[in-house]
Amino acid sequence: VSAIDEAATELARLPGIGRKTALRLVYHLLRQPEERVRALARALVGLSERVAPCSLCFNYAERGQLCQICSDPRRDRTVICVVEEASDIAAIERAAEYRGLYHVLGGRLSPLDGVSASDLTVEALVKRVRQGGVAEIILATNASVEGEATALYVQQALEPLAVRTTRIARGLPVGGDLEYADGVTIAQALAARREM
Ligand SMILES: [Zn+2]
Repeated sequence: VSAIDEAATELARLPGIGRKTALRLVYHLLRQPEERVRALARALVGLSERVAPCSLCFNYAERGQLCQICSDPRRDRTVICVVEEASDIAAIERAAEYRGLYHVLGGRLSPLDGVSASDLTVEALVKRVRQGGVAEIILATNASVEGEATALYVQQALEPLAVRTTRIARGLPVGGDLEYADGVTIAQALAARREM
């Protein structure tokens, strides 16, 4: 396999990139100064070598450190917003309304895909709440059937701890991913959250 083929094959595995686009990117890279290509390669290797889950919230973090949000002293540590994926955090941060912390579940309950409660970080969330100092848990899983089932499961797991638990409003399109919602929609869904 030629280096060009190898690079094109790897790029074509990325979402939204077909074989044609992959080849276009490869030819583009071949025209760049060597240092630029090396910098890109280093950045990609860094993703697997230096990024690891935050030990508190499971957001992406530099290995061995808390994530940027957990280590920010200006964040309100009494509120935790529970999301399915770390990429959902970026969407909520874009709305620029929320100042609390997060908890990344690592997916949603989905029997068909073989995802059960033990695959998610619910137990770690319960532990976090049990340590005290948390006044509210906002469940911001997606508005899909699986997202709703997951929210219900988390709420039941938290029930014995008597912490206020709210669910973001359904301003979001049903089945729509938080990740693709605009900032205004997310801000409205957060503001109109209701008790569970
Ligand atoms: Zn964190």
